[in-house]
Amino acid sequence: MGRENHPKIIKEFGGEYGTPALKRYVDGIGQLLSKTSERPDLKFTFTVLNSDIVNAFATAGGYVYITRGLMALADHEAQLAGVLAHEIGHITALHHARRHGQSILANIGLAAVGILGGREIAKVGQLGATTLLQSFSRENEYEADELGVRYLSRVGFDPTAMAGFLGKLRSDSRLSALRRSESPDKVDQFNYLATHPAPAARVQRATALARKKNVKNPMTARDIYLSKLDGLLYSNDPAEGFIRGQDFLHPKLRFAFTVPDGFNLRNSNKAVYALGPNKSRIIFDRAGKPVDGTMENYVGRVWGSKMRLRDMETVRVNGLEAATATTQVRTNNGTFNARLTAFRVDTKTIYRMIFLTAGADTNGLTTGLRRTTYSFRRLSPAEASRLRPLVLRIVSVQRGDTVGSLARRMPYSDFKLERFEVLNGISRNDRLRRGQKLKMVTAN
Ligand SMILES: [Zn+2]
Repeated sequence: MGRENHPKIIKEFGGEYGTPALKRYVDGIGQLLSKTSERPDLKFTFTVLNSDIVNAFATAGGYVYITRGLMALADHEAQLAGVLAHEIGHITALHHARRHGQSILANIGLAAVGILGGREIAKVGQLGATTLLQSFSRENEYEADELGVRYLSRVGFDPTAMAGFLGKLRSDSRLSALRRSESPDKVDQFNYLATHPAPAARVQRATALARKKNVKNPMTARDIYLSKLDGLLYSNDPAEGFIRGQDFLHPKLRFAFTVPDGFNLRNSNKAVYALGPNKSRIIFDRAGKPVDGTMENYVGRVWGSKMRLRDMETVRVNGLEAATATTQVRTNNGTFNARLTAFRVDTKTIYRMIFLTAGADTNGLTTGLRRTTYSFRRLSPAEASRLRPLVLRIVSVQRGDTVGSLARRMPYSDFKLERFEVLNGISRNDRLRRGQKLKMVTAN
């Protein structure tokens, strides 16, 4: 089953990522760990996925996947090894995966798709990975952590790296919550990370497990690891468009729009999502096939043909013909007010935007969402050519550098300091050493 699903998973997560050298590097660490496991005979396949979402998972038949987003978050080779060892643990312990629905979908940004009506729901069924991804019981997760710490220590890696990386996952989730204007403490109250819940308890447990291991000269291989990260793609793949703060820009398809503060943009290969307060969200995609006629006709007769639409209106947005209407939709999270807007950019291309807001929030969000509608615009070829993806660079600390001064160099409009702290696993109060290597996000 794992072999059959392997190409589907790769496709769903944007393809394989990395140079042959990077692939060999990750595979080498994985093979080393698997040889110390209870199943050294089993064939393991380690794959880096071209996704900026932080995730790792394993499927039957020895297939282990990590994302480039996860690689960027890890501080050294031992943390990466901890993740691989944990996934190997799921396989060697023959954990029986539970098919998982909602949380996995949410994790890869597809939860919203199901609300669009019959056709879209059918599409979700075709999205291999959403039904293939597995999730394990809490007991299984603890066991995989324990096995992971065992394999780490057998290879000579620092066994505390497992707890270290779980701690980083937790910080990363807390930062994501902050960026969504939510309480970071929610991270410990719920299974926030879907496939790999990392509440504080799990960090403590992994720390205790590591204390029982006696590794001579435990290895973290930080310098080697950071050298591998230099130049790593940090944002979306340019072919999928860029998220820059509240802006979504697509240099290849040449359009852009801006979402309100408090909305967190996410890109998938099907649509762009922006998750806002109280489960409000914006979903943006391209209409399946070109349709002639007015935009009003498209919204009323094609897109919304099975919905009860109200307040249909034709508008012009930055020179483009657009039509908008409202309706109500039922989702797993309750009933939402929905505003549908479609923009025609040329005879072949229609883009669509849906705003979902819970009844009580609709009025408060109207102005911001209206601004989002009117922010939709075409990019000029010159603007498009100036857009470069974000990449990681490894920098050496110079005299006078502080965590704050380095963080300010990152190309973000918000949470620069917090992002820099989480990325590097450091605190704003830490004293930096001259020559110390740190990760930096740059726009070239
Ligand atoms: Zn796990």
